[in-house]
Amino acid sequence: MTVVKRTSSNGFLANSLNFFYSAAEEMGLEEGLTEILSRSERKLSMSIPVEMDDGTVRVFDGFRVQHSTALGPSKGGVRFHPNVCLDECEALGMMMTWKCSLAGIPYGGGKGGVCCEPLELSKKEKEKICRTWAARVEPLVGAWTDVPAPDVNTGGPEMVWFMDTISKMRNRLEPAIFTGKPIPLWGSKGRTAATGYGVATCGLELFKALDKKVEGASVSIQGFGNVGTYAALTFIDAGCKVVGISDITGTYYHKDGLDIKKAVDHVQNVHPKHLLEGFVQDGMEKLELNDVLYLDVDLFIPAALEGVVTKDNADKIKAKFIVEAANGPITSDGDAILASRGVVIVPDFLANAGGVIGSYFEWAQDLGGYFWTEEEYNERLIRIMKENFQRVWTYGKEKGVPMRKAAFMVAIERVAEAHRMRGIFL
Ligand code: NAD
Repeated sequence: MTVVKRTSSNGFLANSLNFFYSAAEEMGLEEGLTEILSRSERKLSMSIPVEMDDGTVRVFDGFRVQHSTALGPSKGGVRFHPNVCLDECEALGMMMTWKCSLAGIPYGGGKGGVCCEPLELSKKEKEKICRTWAARVEPLVGAWTDVPAPDVNTGGPEMVWFMDTISKMRNRLEPAIFTGKPIPLWGSKGRTAATGYGVATCGLELFKALDKKVEGASVSIQGFGNVGTYAALTFIDAGCKVVGISDITGTYYHKDGLDIKKAVDHVQNVHPKHLLEGFVQDGMEKLELNDVLYLDVDLFIPAALEGVVTKDNADKIKAKFIVEAANGPITSDGDAILASRGVVIVPDFLANAGGVIGSYFEWAQDLGGYFWTEEEYNERLIRIMKENFQRVWTYGKEKGVPMRKAAFMVAIERVAEAHRMRGIFL
């Protein structure tokens, strides 16, 4: 038997499959398991009819993909965006399987979404979309089957509408089906900072693994939103110099280190749209939007968008190390150029797993009906992030492969082992 390789006209799904096949080949994964894991267990497409505020009816396309439940309930967000389609959900669901597996948490992977432009929707229209989406997936979701969460353009309010709809349909409260809920409605303390803390923890572990002094090490961060902010605060607490930060208003650079606490205060409390625009500091330079990518630093953190480092600009990157906070910030051809120059890259699904580990903590608290302190949450998060980093680092050294491939191999092996133990029925 030879593996019949799937491909897709959707670039994201094609890329995810390529990464999977390449790691599966490197580790000598059985052909049958390669076939199984290159496909999704379930893919649901749905129509979502909505009576809009002006009385007209629009029908939106919605989706939920369960890529794998070998290790536990499928876990992954629900995205509201005009580009959402079944293939994109499948690619993202597959990445969630590897992310949860690598994180060592008891979940498989899934993803969902609705093809819509949230900026054009009123709150009432969004609520109707959420309630119909939840009703359509009701037979498939559950604390032990499929546990959705926020993703691009969804957050606490959407999770509450989902949870409320399912709870009413089942005539019992179902808090553990959705994570990312507000704290008063069975959400968890500590979630806001989790991804940024986790990203910075990976950066600090990398310095340790390479015997590089943390005190005074220089860091630049693209994107100063939720993830970038908490990563920056953690780096300065550890003694690093954050010399460059950026958001959609440009790059802010100070060779001796920026006053990060002041920048955070500016974004959170001063600027009406929570931007860096207008932030000033003595000796600081304001540079162009993309200059943050090319600063001469020890560590660069892309924490904004996907595909920012490509074959066209990888040569201009001066950082020696990169920790990927955003999902997919480096394209595969950009990755190859950086690897040939010896740049060490901590891959996204290892570095930004703090978010899904936080979801796991919320789920565990909801199932037990007993809530942790923020200190307990952070202590457990940091411990898991450090262990995961060490596992991938050691495996990569043993096998002589870069961290990205090592991470895929560790992640795939854990799912494969679950399949070997459970058998291939369903
Ligand atoms: P966010 O919306 O809070 O912040 C994004 C930041 O990026 C903003 O400061 C924005 O101004 C900036 N930005 C956007 N376009 C830019 C550009 N062209 N140049 C420079 N800056 C730009 O988002 P976030 O929650 O911090 O997420 C950032 C990335 O991390 C995303 O790729 C997201 O998918 C990923 N991620 C987030 C989480 C999480 O828990 N928030 C978990 C896993 C992965």
